[in-house]
Amino acid sequence: MRHLFHLLLFLAFASFGQNQTDRCATQFPAHSAPFETWLQQKRASFRLDEEVVYTIPVVVHVLHLGEPIGQGSNLSLERIQSQIRILNEDYRRKLGTRGYNTNPVGGDARIEFVLAKTDPDGQPTDGIVRKEASQIPVLPGDANIIDYQAFHSYWDPERYLNIWSTSQYQVGSFLGMAKFPLADLPGMSSWDDGHADGVTIDAEHFGEITTTNYPYGRTGTHEIGHFLGLLHTWGNADSGSESCSDATDYCEDTPPVNRSTSGCPSTPPLACNGQGAMMENYMDYSYDRCMNIFTNDQIGRMRTVLENSPRRKSLLTSPALNEPDPLSLTPPEKGWSVNVQEGQVIIEHPSLPVADVEATCYSFSGTIIPVTIVSKSTTRVVAQLPASSEAVNVLRLRLGATVYTKKIIKYGK
Ligand SMILES: [Zn+2]
Repeated sequence: MRHLFHLLLFLAFASFGQNQTDRCATQFPAHSAPFETWLQQKRASFRLDEEVVYTIPVVVHVLHLGEPIGQGSNLSLERIQSQIRILNEDYRRKLGTRGYNTNPVGGDARIEFVLAKTDPDGQPTDGIVRKEASQIPVLPGDANIIDYQAFHSYWDPERYLNIWSTSQYQVGSFLGMAKFPLADLPGMSSWDDGHADGVTIDAEHFGEITTTNYPYGRTGTHEIGHFLGLLHTWGNADSGSESCSDATDYCEDTPPVNRSTSGCPSTPPLACNGQGAMMENYMDYSYDRCMNIFTNDQIGRMRTVLENSPRRKSLLTSPALNEPDPLSLTPPEKGWSVNVQEGQVIIEHPSLPVADVEATCYSFSGTIIPVTIVSKSTTRVVAQLPASSEAVNVLRLRLGATVYTKKIIKYGK
């Protein structure tokens, strides 16, 4: 029913060109219960006074409708940089910015974000990919738009926080969506649903703008909170009213609430315990101007996820944080040809090290998928892509001492 409601809501608003009303369409995974148990165990060793600042490399995929750079959904460099700046203000509780607070339970998450310096081929990058993607259909509010976006542009989720922006009219009735992290429990990989990993932010609300009630880039702050394991302040449930006993975000320093806050009321609505709700929390639905806090418990969750969770921990040591190493650069264009035809990858080069060739594929979700070499000569190697239904994204070849990564797309589903 909620899905139908969202679709109807979107159609109603789309015809008047108005803004969305739902902040977030993040879908919480079926494995929430074992994930929470795992996280609580890991958190037992968390130290709030730990000083290490974590840095996360970001790639921004600007999926636009063909406009020139700086117009419409083809976001300007300044807009993209403003989003990164806001993330750093909010996650560092930076003095003198909108992200600062003096709340005794508020903290500095000591998490920073930088645009990637090295692309998946080991080449220099500004961390921004621009792709015309007007063929992405208008989606109902509950669709997993991240998979549609990843089909157009996606970098290895082990090494990059993928952030996409797409025109508002394609996104539907929400401002953003994120993929929740996994635990590193045995068997947990079977809960990985094969969907692409990352965060999407509606292009209209990406970075700092001067219009709407969401002008300060807090959609990005909120969605990355989910990406790092935070729930909404009222827990996993829908934004509507739930019973107080069912609603929890597993953080003791956020007042227990059973619903989201709308707008920016002058007096906060009451929490389940009679205190004021923490509507200034980034994980509420209030307007951007109301928001300025992650609590110490929320920070503990995010840092624990970053230290332990697959595809989060690996970001902290990603080569994308550094400039490319000129010695390790292999110009992929020079003499190389890699083509995908009917499920086979055909690699051609004048002098292939036939005796020492390995090929591996990675799915959208970063899972390793074996690749069979079906034939090889000194000029041509043919590898067979897996016949499984999983979507394949990245091919990694080792040819003698040279490792060569190429982005391919075989969309299995
Ligand atoms: Zn959310």
